Amino acid sequence: MTTETIAPSVLITEAEVHSVTRLSPAFVRVELASAAFVDLGEDGYDTRFKVVLPGPTGALPTIPPVPEEYYSALMAAGDVRSPMRTYTIRDVVRDGDDVRLVVDFVVHEEVGGHAPGPACRWALAARRGDVIQVVAPHRRSSYGGTEFDPAGRTHLLLIGDETAVPALGRILADVGPGHTGGVFVEVPTAADILDLPAPEGFEMQWFPRNDAAYGRRIVQQVRRHLGLPPATDFEALPELPSDLDIDVWETPRYSAAGEDLEEQLRARSVGHDLEDTYAWIAGESWMVKALRRTLVTELGLDRAQVAFMGYWREGVPMKA
Ligand SMILES: Cc1cc2nc3c(=O)[nH]c(=O)nc-3n(C[C@H](O)[C@H](O)[C@H](O)COP(=O)(O)OP(=O)(O)OC[C@H]3O[C@@H](n4cnc5c(N)ncnc54)[C@H](O)[C@@H]3O)c2cc1C
Repeated sequence: MTTETIAPSVLITEAEVHSVTRLSPAFVRVELASAAFVDLGEDGYDTRFKVVLPGPTGALPTIPPVPEEYYSALMAAGDVRSPMRTYTIRDVVRDGDDVRLVVDFVVHEEVGGHAPGPACRWALAARRGDVIQVVAPHRRSSYGGTEFDPAGRTHLLLIGDETAVPALGRILADVGPGHTGGVFVEVPTAADILDLPAPEGFEMQWFPRNDAAYGRRIVQQVRRHLGLPPATDFEALPELPSDLDIDVWETPRYSAAGEDLEEQLRARSVGHDLEDTYAWIAGESWMVKALRRTLVTELGLDRAQVAFMGYWREGVPMKA
């Protein structure tokens, strides 16, 4: 008789705060520890995972024996359910069986009358010994959670705001030799410019936002880089059908708008040869949408060459 081992779909575990480091006014680095992290899947790049924070009663959900039942159990708690949010695995520190997951939380004040959410508040108050839950890739699962995939293209256009800084840092650390690229990062202030080592052949540009509206500055800088005139009226940029969606998530593998990815436009260049370019764009949804219009509608970039990911939306709490 043969016995079949079914690979767990995800790793779900309680994790304890091992250390908290304030990297800058906008970034809090938290190292999480759990004995279960020996089974953590490590694809690197922009691999995402979920944190589940204590709910209004201060309790965390019970972890069911079958991982597939976790989400419905979480939701069943109704108004007192624990908030779940998405973050990036910034790093995994291994010392034998002592494995720690490193996550960089963006922290902020009230923005435009909108109070910070539970993840931001939790990170600001985090202390060694605090406990949360983590839903992450399992090393034996095919669940990836990684989007970065230039598919052989060697010129990278990497664009993000502060929420994408952890992924950008990891992408720059993991990308192999033979790549070149431009990296455009918008952060709240000059004090949030972090030391992200980039391989040779990459040009790193940081844009402190200061009091400007989210994304406006970086969109103009990317347009200039691509040889396009500055947008004078952002709302006048040509619309795409999926602009109606709240969530912008479009990669060569998946379109949240359900658009046919086979219907692809040929790349053409405006002052740049974009044939060999892969664009990875993540951050506030308005910025991602504006750059999607710039790259796909205006420049006709092939849809297989781009990953557009709305990581958060101004004024709108994430679901769950
Ligand atoms: C794949 C993926 C990876 C991500 N990786 C990271 C990461 O590594 N680090 C990280 O910090 N974030 C990351 N994010 C973004 C993070 O999930 C959101 O910012 C999330 O909304 C934070 O939850 P919250 O509970 O603080 O706020 P929510 O309850 O979701 O929102 C409450 C209010 O806060 C506002 N808000 C949310 N985020 C911000 C922000 N950054 N600045 C200003 N206002 C904000 C919302 O617009 C809303 O008005 C990632 C998102 C995705 C989808």
